[in-house]
Amino acid sequence: MNNDKVIYLDNNATTRVAPEVAEEMRPFFTELYGNPSSMHFFGGGVQKHLDSARRKVAELLGASAEEIIFTSCGTESDSTAIWSALRAYPDKKHIVTTKVEHPGVLNVCKFLEAQGYRVTSLPVDGEGRLNLEDLKIAITPDTALVSIMWANNETGVVFPVEEAARISHAKGALFHTDAVQAVGKIPINLKDTKIDMLSLSGHKLHAPKGIGVLYVKKGARFSPFMLGGHQERGRRAGTENVPYIIGLGKAAELALKNMEKENAYVKALRDRLQEGLVKAVRNVRVNGGGAERLPNTTNISFEYIEGESILIMLSEKGICASSGSACTSGSLEPSHVMLSMGVPQTYAHGSIRFSFSVYNTEEEVDAVIRELPAIIDRLRAISPFADGKPLFGMEACAPHKH
Ligand code: PLP
Repeated sequence: MNNDKVIYLDNNATTRVAPEVAEEMRPFFTELYGNPSSMHFFGGGVQKHLDSARRKVAELLGASAEEIIFTSCGTESDSTAIWSALRAYPDKKHIVTTKVEHPGVLNVCKFLEAQGYRVTSLPVDGEGRLNLEDLKIAITPDTALVSIMWANNETGVVFPVEEAARISHAKGALFHTDAVQAVGKIPINLKDTKIDMLSLSGHKLHAPKGIGVLYVKKGARFSPFMLGGHQERGRRAGTENVPYIIGLGKAAELALKNMEKENAYVKALRDRLQEGLVKAVRNVRVNGGGAERLPNTTNISFEYIEGESILIMLSEKGICASSGSACTSGSLEPSHVMLSMGVPQTYAHGSIRFSFSVYNTEEEVDAVIRELPAIIDRLRAISPFADGKPLFGMEACAPHKH
């Protein structure tokens, strides 16, 4: 497949590095390569650029520069936040999270559960929404941390994390949000919130893969994950990944400057695709379509077919999208998000996520609307399920019990 012809609608998986970002990073590989911790002028010069990038990231979040810790990725930020909360409150043994978190939170909680911690995973409704009454009931004096994502990576559904943070604080628990899918896509202003920690990842907002941030509110108890040197004010050891931090700073600056305009643009593309497909294909449902969502994301289920088959056939046409399914022991399981939302089994297997960026065009959307209905028709024609027969292997796809 010719990469020039790619129609890339998988921007929640990762994004193209913006040309302005790549350009800003370039000198920090070959010319400005000093170690920012060095005493000499050459390192000190780099430190100034690092400080500037930190301020830009802080500005995007409505935070102050001292509250920004650079990490290697969103996953490291999530792990750091959870472990830190447990070390900060060693007598507390309970965590509250949701059933639809990214594995970066989900699997840490699973591990901790096996170590003897108690984990409460809040349910979502049919549109993927949380009920904050469930949160109020779940928090106990033993709760060290509440971790709730800002926006879901599969459906784009946005959670009311500011209110959730207020509830958590009032009940004496720290609050962390995995905002990897939200930062750069919706306005965030942490200043007057009770959010103690927030994770973000550069590669979701046109910076490179392998750079992340953990925001830690001034005054919040914090215990570092990585020990070693005194970098990041002793909160994250290891020589800073200077070129990538510079890139993230530039990406944050661009996101803040262009967010309103870009949101309107990607939302129009998203809605065009969604409406076009709903009109052109029978038996489809938009998962989370009734909830508040990220402007760039839609998750559409096509009844009676496997999402993976759709993805393969789209890929043959140069169209990149994604499904949340995981192939385990030979059976394709619907994603934990679809199962938690109670999406009917006949639909849950055939869910496809389309996620946009400012680099997409109307022509690309129209190409998908042209190609996809024929793909669905072909797959339904050979589907053993489409004539109403029961789904083979249904038992293997029983809902997870998180
Ligand atoms: N959290 C969410 C919601 C994500 O979507 C992702 C990546 O897909 C991550 C965490 C992990 O981020 P990273 O790839 O930087 O480790």
